[in-house]
Amino acid sequence: MDLDSLLLLRSDFNSSRAFWIFVLWLVFLLSMLGLIGLGFGNERGRGFTGFMLGFFLGPIGWILILCLEPDGRRCPECLGVVPNLARRCRHCSSELPPSLAPRRGWLV
Ligand SMILES: [Zn+2]
Repeated sequence: MDLDSLLLLRSDFNSSRAFWIFVLWLVFLLSMLGLIGLGFGNERGRGFTGFMLGFFLGPIGWILILCLEPDGRRCPECLGVVPNLARRCRHCSSELPPSLAPRRGWLV
């Protein structure tokens, strides 16, 4: 094995290591963007949507999730967003008045 092929091997190793460091860094960065989106989404009862928008769109996704309507209604005690049919708040565990939203089923 001569010096040229050794150098080639070495540069291949270096570039593939740089590639994987780049990929790990990218995954880490996208996860952080997603986690920030998750924080914004959780406030509006849309945690998963917030994570996905943050992950794929970054700051644009954060703005989108902040523009979306909350998924549910607000607890009168703590103003946290709870699902429409919930009977107890998941944030402060106070009892909620029955939902006034019409039920959507097969017949009604
Ligand atoms: Zn509450």
